Amino acid sequence: QDSIVIVGGGLAAATTVNELREQGHTGTISLIGQEQELPYERPPLSKGYLQGNDKLEDFTVNPASWYQEHNVQLHLGVRAEKIDRENQQVSLSDGSTVDYDQLVLATGARPNLGGKQPFEGHDLPGVHLLRTVEQARALRETLSEDTQLAVIGSGWIGMEVAASARSRGARVTVYSPDEVPLAKVFGDRFGHHLLELHQRNGVDVRTSTRVDSIQETDGHLEVVSSAGTSRADVVLLAIGAVPNIELAQEAGLKTERGVIVDASLRSSDPKILAIGDIAEAFNTSLRRQLRVEHWDNAIRQGKLAAATLLGQDQSYDWAPYFFTDQFDLGMEYVGYSAPEDISVVRGDTETGEFIVFWLSEGKVTAAMNVNIWDVNDTLRGVLGKSIDQERLTDQSVDLAEL
Ligand code: FAD
Repeated sequence: QDSIVIVGGGLAAATTVNELREQGHTGTISLIGQEQELPYERPPLSKGYLQGNDKLEDFTVNPASWYQEHNVQLHLGVRAEKIDRENQQVSLSDGSTVDYDQLVLATGARPNLGGKQPFEGHDLPGVHLLRTVEQARALRETLSEDTQLAVIGSGWIGMEVAASARSRGARVTVYSPDEVPLAKVFGDRFGHHLLELHQRNGVDVRTSTRVDSIQETDGHLEVVSSAGTSRADVVLLAIGAVPNIELAQEAGLKTERGVIVDASLRSSDPKILAIGDIAEAFNTSLRRQLRVEHWDNAIRQGKLAAATLLGQDQSYDWAPYFFTDQFDLGMEYVGYSAPEDISVVRGDTETGEFIVFWLSEGKVTAAMNVNIWDVNDTLRGVLGKSIDQERLTDQSVDLAEL
């Protein structure tokens, strides 16, 4: 059986390994990950782990014993540095090489430092990034009632960290370049709902405020923004993520915003697959290339990669799914809406429990349930259907009847 090498020690990589062994693959499997830890899930890093409620073991995909029992060769704390496609070999940072019949790239993403021009002050002591458990631990240690935390960026990670830091008593300021955080993609009503939730819980959200730099003055940090200069003890830079596609690029694989792969996740070299946050994959339902930076996608593409490696005929055909938890708000979103899609709300946002549907040319493109549970699979079933807005928002119509 094929010798399979998987580069990247995250959720997508670990899911592929699990699935390969579960489906009876008996060939060699090597997993190469540059972090020291066994593969783990990242969503708790900005939520339960940062709040001090979850332990790393709670969200580690498999214990060490599982990899031993399933004969998986782990190379942790080791970086894959080069792919020799001709000889089907990967060179590692410890000087060794591994041969592959098939290779899976699952190198994930890293925090954006500001594009070509790194953000001024990003490397000062007290300025944090959040992608790894090590970074989450470092940030968690700084959070107490005495801390003034400045969060730069109002995307999901920034807003989740703001909520978690408040639960540890820290004073929190969020700097958002937008008029309403997250409204561009999730609509004004949801954006306002989230903004008010944060304000009610004591987060100082400075909207329409662009941060220019972080400075160090007399032993403390200062955030310099379009609204002036404010002091902070700790800063989190949360301005998005950049996919780790350099290894694929240097190997000459086709890349754009991610590694270009087909609907079975094969790259321009059929012996190499790409999955998870780095994959710009062809989605057969949406009929377009799509790169998705979400937990559910890492799991589903991990499973699909295993199917492809084992010669099964499956494809990337599902709608993206995403969730968040902030204060007492839990939300799930399924589908893919464009900014120009119409949104309608079922229920009352005042109560905190509602569903938003997005429509394009009368068809449902996406749906989001807020503090209403066990309905997301039903909402997934509504995607692509032509349903008139009155019926969608009429709460007397059962969701299952839509
Ligand atoms: P990753 O999890 O990034 O794993 C990639 C691994 O590969 C990393 O360990 C990296 O160090 C390693 N690597 C990179 N290059 C090399 C190399 N050359 N050699 C060896 N190893 C290498 N999604 C949601 O849907 N909901 C959420 O609530 C949510 N919360 C999140 C909170 C945080 C703080 C973060 C950071 C992400 C969150 N996500 C969430 C996104 C989700 O975690 C990612 O989509 C998911 O982790 C992607 O999995 P992956 O395996 O593709 O990449």
